[in-house]
Amino acid sequence: MDRKNCYDVIIIGAGPGGAFCAYELKEKQPDLKILIIEKGRSIEKRVCPKRTNGGKCLHCKPCSITTGFSGAGAFSDGKLSLSPDVGGNLPDILGYDEASRLIRESDDIYLKFGADTHVWGVDKPEAIREIRTRAIVANLKLVECPIRHLGTEKGYEIYERMQNYLLEKGVEMIFNTSVADILIESDGTGAQHVCGVKTEKGDTYYAPKVVAAVGREGADWLHGQCEKFGIDSVPGTVDIGVRVEVRDEVMQYLNDNLYEAKLIYHTPTFDDKVRTFCTNPHGEVATELYDGGLAVVNGHAYSGAEYATHNTNFAILVSKNFTKPFKTPIEYGRKIAELSNMLCGGRILVQNFGDFKRGRRSTEERMCRNNLIPTLKDAVPGDLSLVFPHRIMVDIEEMIYALDKVTPGIASDETLLYGVEVKFYSNKLVVSKEFETSVPGLYAIGDGAGITRGLQQASANGLVVARSILGVEH
Ligand SMILES: Cc1cc2nc3c(=O)[nH]c(=O)nc-3n(C[C@H](O)[C@H](O)[C@H](O)COP(=O)(O)OP(=O)(O)OC[C@H]3O[C@@H](n4cnc5c(N)ncnc54)[C@H](O)[C@@H]3O)c2cc1C
Repeated sequence: MDRKNCYDVIIIGAGPGGAFCAYELKEKQPDLKILIIEKGRSIEKRVCPKRTNGGKCLHCKPCSITTGFSGAGAFSDGKLSLSPDVGGNLPDILGYDEASRLIRESDDIYLKFGADTHVWGVDKPEAIREIRTRAIVANLKLVECPIRHLGTEKGYEIYERMQNYLLEKGVEMIFNTSVADILIESDGTGAQHVCGVKTEKGDTYYAPKVVAAVGREGADWLHGQCEKFGIDSVPGTVDIGVRVEVRDEVMQYLNDNLYEAKLIYHTPTFDDKVRTFCTNPHGEVATELYDGGLAVVNGHAYSGAEYATHNTNFAILVSKNFTKPFKTPIEYGRKIAELSNMLCGGRILVQNFGDFKRGRRSTEERMCRNNLIPTLKDAVPGDLSLVFPHRIMVDIEEMIYALDKVTPGIASDETLLYGVEVKFYSNKLVVSKEFETSVPGLYAIGDGAGITRGLQQASANGLVVARSILGVEH
């Protein structure tokens, strides 16, 4: 075995989970030999051509928005949720207090690398009371969550500093390389343990500890590895819905007082859980591309005034839990997104709420009749009822009417609904409190393991897994 290919820890994926894991390992034990293998580019080479191409997606492979150093974090809106109630299941695994403490610690690291010190959503108790009262009237639950907003390009700078810091500390990073297989061997008794990874280029790297931190981008691949090696996993929830876009005026009261209004509804017809997610004031709706060219919708906001729009976007997501014998929720979400792509030539479908509720296809003319100019320029006017099951259509419509009671104007005919937004974090790996899988030495963290679904919890997950690997107190 070539010693130069041997490491103490190999981390698959350089998203916030993987990066914070490497950071903490080096902080606690500087002499550790650590390798990160990342399918995308180093951060300074991550350029999305949409910026210089009139907003048109060129379907780069791999996508610069979701892969490369800092993963889906680099071009995210950079909203750090400072409450354990938001962004993942760490409280279920570690307990609420421990999850809170870890979130504070990972937040301190963001501050160390230059995050804005302002925290939104804590300084206006009177306004929050009023919003909660309106929410109660509409049967909505308001989840309070302080937010630290990095902003897309500020977040990029923070992660760039972090990448350079890790390189200076001696963390090795291989970019533009996907891990094809986790290497697992058996001892004389037949017991399995991890021993390294093999890349798509055929290179092998060895380590007694491997951390899979592959994000949503790598969730399918990780699921495939679970099937191949009998690693325990369970089907989770699939979140599916639309990205809503309105004029800033409609959301101004919520945006000014909460920054991000997190509202949860149990719909009257089906009693399904529907929530708002990822609000971007003055933001842009964005296309997110997955392997195979699947286009799904997302949104972001830049902190610089020069990129600000007059619109706010946020997601409405319906949470679906499935029971036996169904076990492929990711495939379910993918099929619905594929249907939408099929109807729109591989692009994102958009419909205004007036047409949505009247059951007709939107047209270019009806889309721009009123006050709202769509920010996703290559979206195709269409009919979401040809894409979503009836149940999801009803859930979305009922949620929009409920939200209209909290922030009037949401149920206006001009409101835009972009589809499909789907969250591929649904397959949950079965992990211990140490985040070790059923294969000793193999750890799984972050969005790809179905444990987190946000920057702050993914980062905190990186910290805690590093401590588990080193056997130190959380
Ligand atoms: C447009 C957008 C906006 C968002 N906005 C916010 C926000 O404002 N606030 C928030 O909290 N969250 C936001 N998110 C979600 C947030 O980015 C993720 O929750 C977070 O990045 C998850 O971190 P992670 O480390 O688990 O995975 P990721 O960040 O997805 O990183 C995983 C990395 O693994 C790599 N990888 C995958 N498979 C392999 C493989 N086989 N071999 C090698 N490398 C591999 C990928 O290339 C990727 O770089 C946003 C996401 C997107 C896409």
